[in-house]
Amino acid sequence: MTHVVVIGAGFSGLAAAAHLARGGARVTVVERHDQPGGRARTWSEAGFHFDMGPSWYWMPDLFERFFRTFGHEVSDLYDLRRLDPSYRVVWPAPGEGSSPRFPPGSGAPPGSDTASGSGRSSGSWDIPAGVPALRELFEAEEPGGGAALDRFLAETGAIYQAANSDYLFRPSLTFREFMDPRLLTEVVRMRMLRSMASYARSFFGSERLARLVEWPVLFLGASARKTPAMYSLMSYADMALGTWYPMGGMHRIIQAMVQVAEDQGVEFRFGSRVERIRVEGGRAVAVEMEGGGGALSADAVLASADYHHVEQTLLEPQHRQYTERYWERRTMSPSSLLYYLGIQGDLGDLPHHTLFFDQDLDAHMDAVYLRPAWPRSPLFYACAPSVTDPSVAPAGASNLFLLVPLAPGLEDSDAARETVFQGVMARLEAHVGLPLRERLVVKRSYAMRDFEADYGAFRGNAYGMANTLRQTGPLKPRLRSSQVRGLYFAGQLTVPGPGMPPSLVSGELAAGVLLRDLGVRPTEASPPGSPRP
Ligand SMILES: Cc1cc2nc3c(=O)[nH]c(=O)nc-3n(C[C@H](O)[C@H](O)[C@H](O)COP(=O)(O)OP(=O)(O)OC[C@H]3O[C@@H](n4cnc5c(N)ncnc54)[C@H](O)[C@@H]3O)c2cc1C
Repeated sequence: MTHVVVIGAGFSGLAAAAHLARGGARVTVVERHDQPGGRARTWSEAGFHFDMGPSWYWMPDLFERFFRTFGHEVSDLYDLRRLDPSYRVVWPAPGEGSSPRFPPGSGAPPGSDTASGSGRSSGSWDIPAGVPALRELFEAEEPGGGAALDRFLAETGAIYQAANSDYLFRPSLTFREFMDPRLLTEVVRMRMLRSMASYARSFFGSERLARLVEWPVLFLGASARKTPAMYSLMSYADMALGTWYPMGGMHRIIQAMVQVAEDQGVEFRFGSRVERIRVEGGRAVAVEMEGGGGALSADAVLASADYHHVEQTLLEPQHRQYTERYWERRTMSPSSLLYYLGIQGDLGDLPHHTLFFDQDLDAHMDAVYLRPAWPRSPLFYACAPSVTDPSVAPAGASNLFLLVPLAPGLEDSDAARETVFQGVMARLEAHVGLPLRERLVVKRSYAMRDFEADYGAFRGNAYGMANTLRQTGPLKPRLRSSQVRGLYFAGQLTVPGPGMPPSLVSGELAAGVLLRDLGVRPTEASPPGSPRP
């Protein structure tokens, strides 16, 4: 039986492993950490259970699709709840930061604190779940905004459907896969190559509405000015499909994936760090573990650890496809400064997700992409999962996770982390009106040097390579090595890109290409339009 070694047990490695085993291969997953999940690992301390990475569950259809392939409904595996409000956005106070234009007479949108008089430090919107309520918010902000939202969702919904039923599932091994007159006509007709920033402003005059519909592309690692409008499908996912949460935490998804993989016969070796991929006669034949952990022979290797780490560290130079110069010239996604905080008592009026867009967005984006530096007044994101799920904190306490995007490759120091921490906590405390720092019982930070140490992340990136136009589809590092036969790649640095759902797809695509190359039958879940052997 064909034996495939999968390196890494994150979303992409788990998806690949399950698909490979289902396709008829014997599969062993080797993972350096003592638990699965990769960027989606958990960390527990003093009764608090923290998801270490992802916290937004979007595109529920792609998770359903994955689990259905293996005969499960999501509802059999975890308890998924839709959040309402989906999230809160805190805007700059008028006259501060890159303050949006407020159209005269537009009124206060529903959920804004100007309407409720909550006395927060700046205006904020609670973004409701469901299009009808959203339409009201848009109309209140800008006359005609509701109709503009309908047009925006109709167009981005078509992009979403086209991507999720077809284009997302093309392995992008050659440009020929996309030489499709229908696709090219659609790209031009729907203006998909313009920037997301200009696309958003072609629908909405209000700067706040434009910012609201463009922010989801930040998940893809680049600013809205650098991300093509084809990725507006993220905005559709946000507004039309909703924000969800698996009770117990995001790690419940990982546990379910491990269960599915084990049911297919996948074997796991945790605490096993690969230090070399052995190549003989131009073919990957084994992986060697560090610390005298022995070698595992293989008919093929599927590496789902960071692409740069695999090529530049686990392969001898003559077997690499890309030079260090190639990597230096890529646009990586931001790194992040994260804080895992356990807080005694509640968090006041804080919803599950809050985006603090109350400072100058452009200045922060410049500090991430143009002139890398620790931002002075960063935007940040606060996640309070214990608001929805009491199981992630001890009774009477709250679980809080903070994320500040930072330029990859910045010099990382405890002092710089602490300065940012004090600044964002002061803003958070002003927003909720509570002295949260006085009630801290757990505090752990995580940033560039931790991403490098834990994942071999190039320049400490948090979520791979940015989805810019020049780094889309066949322009990304390829799923199949051109230098080493039997070596395949999956994960957030290859197609389709960063995020949990794309990583799931990446694992499926890499497994499909490998199975096809080895002459094993492909997975049956491939949607219409995906290549057949
Ligand atoms: C802070 C943060 C927040 C995020 N928020 C969201 C979100 O809200 N929603 C969303 O959809 N996505 C989010 N993402 C992105 C998402 O988490 C990732 O895109 C996804 O988890 C990547 O999965 P992966 O399998 O490609 O990589 P990884 O999860 O990094 O998996 C790679 C695995 O390989 C292992 N490995 C590395 N080197 C070796 C080696 N030499 N030997 C053996 N094993 C090795 C690693 O330990 C790891 O387990 C976030 C990411 C981060 C970091």
